[in-house]
Amino acid sequence: MIYHQLIVVGGGLAGLRAAVEAKAAGLDVAILTQVHPGRSHSGAAQGGVNGALANHPEGHDDTPEKHAFDTVKGSDYLADQPAALQMTTDAVPAIYELEHMGCPFSRFDDGRIAQRPFGGAGYPRTCYGADKTGHYMLHTLVEQAYKHQITMYIERFVMGLIVEDGECRGVVAYNMTKGGFEEFRGEAVIMATGGAGRTYSNTTNAVISTGGGAAMAYHAGVPLKDMEFVQFHPTGLYTTHILMTEGCRGEGGYLVNGEGERFMRRYAPSAMELAPRDITSRSIQQEIDAGRGIGGKDYVYLDLRHLGAETLAEKLPGTRDLAIHFEGVDPVYEPIPIQPCQHYSMGGIDTDVDGKTMMPGLYAAGECACVTVHGANRLGGNSLLETIVFGRRAGSAVVGFIQGKSGGGKAAAEAAAGSAAARLQKRIDDIAAREGTEDAYVIRTEMTVTMRYHFGIYREQGKMQEGLDTLLALKERLKKAKLRYTGGVWNIDMIRTTELEGMLDVALATACGALARSESRGSHARTDFETRDDAEWLKHTVATCRPEGPPKLDYRPVEMGLFEPQERKY
Ligand SMILES: Cc1cc2nc3c(=O)[nH]c(=O)nc-3n(C[C@H](O)[C@H](O)[C@H](O)COP(=O)(O)OP(=O)(O)OC[C@H]3O[C@@H](n4cnc5c(N)ncnc54)[C@H](O)[C@@H]3O)c2cc1C
Repeated sequence: MIYHQLIVVGGGLAGLRAAVEAKAAGLDVAILTQVHPGRSHSGAAQGGVNGALANHPEGHDDTPEKHAFDTVKGSDYLADQPAALQMTTDAVPAIYELEHMGCPFSRFDDGRIAQRPFGGAGYPRTCYGADKTGHYMLHTLVEQAYKHQITMYIERFVMGLIVEDGECRGVVAYNMTKGGFEEFRGEAVIMATGGAGRTYSNTTNAVISTGGGAAMAYHAGVPLKDMEFVQFHPTGLYTTHILMTEGCRGEGGYLVNGEGERFMRRYAPSAMELAPRDITSRSIQQEIDAGRGIGGKDYVYLDLRHLGAETLAEKLPGTRDLAIHFEGVDPVYEPIPIQPCQHYSMGGIDTDVDGKTMMPGLYAAGECACVTVHGANRLGGNSLLETIVFGRRAGSAVVGFIQGKSGGGKAAAEAAAGSAAARLQKRIDDIAAREGTEDAYVIRTEMTVTMRYHFGIYREQGKMQEGLDTLLALKERLKKAKLRYTGGVWNIDMIRTTELEGMLDVALATACGALARSESRGSHARTDFETRDDAEWLKHTVATCRPEGPPKLDYRPVEMGLFEPQERKY
């Protein structure tokens, strides 16, 4: 048994920011992560992070309130408005704090942090470091974690929470390099495990973005919120789904159909290519469905040629590299074939603005959490922001929680040690002993394809019901999939098979939430209920796990107070 007061699961931006905050306040903090923190998926973020710094010549009167308005309008009015304002207010100091830590943001000529336009934003407020913003932010915080001498357990795959007397007291993890299961016990846990993109077959997310943290909390009785809202990014590379950042359009890139037309003028005449992602993705899909994809196929072009080689080299160098190496086109000379791809999970572990869940001792931050600030559709640049704002707030809140706690401590943890690892060992032994007539890898593929085609950009009752039936059947079939290998080091078979149980439950929460919500709002676009229905559906979906079958759904009102819902026009 290994004891630390605070256990942070995840070494991405949210986990690092939380850990640094708690360690600086004097807690004994450990980070557990399945990859080195510097390889967390946050490093793939390209375009930028939003904050009303008002540095851009066209944005000198920008404010956190205007940023909050854009966020709430972008969310199709499902964001909790006080939470959105909290995020946009914290944004400005959070970005300057990163700057002071040494994050190498791009600069205007006068030396201030540069900002670019992004979709759905009334002002150019996205701060960036060329098209490698996530990489720069992540490595800045990795440095801070080392500076604060935070203990890191790298290549530990966390497989479950330790819950005793209704409190979260740690996690159980597989030691990937040495083999075996370990108990990490403490006074509190912060989940910061990222998104669930890999539940879809066409995602921009990394192979480790499987929704594992969300599933662990869910299995322990903590609800998931608003899981039906899944963001499709307009511009994933056609063949590999690798992201072409929204920064491409922020810098002036065009979207062009098979007839050579900049079709966004028909869908968002003012914002054009800088409409929010839900609207832009649907517009592309409509062009494709109408046979106006390139050569009638299921993609359109992102055209950057008019920006010129110099701008691409200065502002979008990584994008050019990715297009050359993964699609075989050089954007200086050729348009890039793109298609909308799954990109972000708006839903997640139900938390408040301090990362607190309904379970004492369990906090969550970053993409695995749902505060809710993104509502039905996240604006580009608001997710990197969420990681640093709510990571810091969770790290700070947990200090108060631990200091106010009576009992606990290392001696109590030692007294309880052993039982959780033994339960995990039994779970693995049971899977190994199964009949073994099913293949977990086949089930995973069927799940991801089902999510793509039955719960994609456009949704409809019959198709979703079929998809839900398939997911429930897959859940049953998984009970007959056994492990090929049960122990040893780097047992990827065990990781992939056990995480699939959680992925299927996360997928079911998405499916059931989507099927029940008989309206269109943000990313949830139904062809059989085409309009937003505020009278009936201005509410959050709260899904509670039931071990067998679909989840139990409840609803909770949206916190309003600042902006009255309007029709979204761009
Ligand atoms: C290609 C791409 C580009 C993006 N660009 C932008 C952008 O420009 N602006 C913006 O605002 N947003 C962007 N986003 C979204 C944003 O990057 C993410 O939402 C955000 O970085 C998530 O950070 P996180 O800390 O929550 O999780 P992650 O960075 O995904 O970190 C998750 C951590 O959890 C660990 N982990 C997961 N499961 C386990 C487990 N079972 N056991 C142990 N460890 C585990 C991982 O090892 C990792 O360290 C982009 C997303 C993608 C995919």
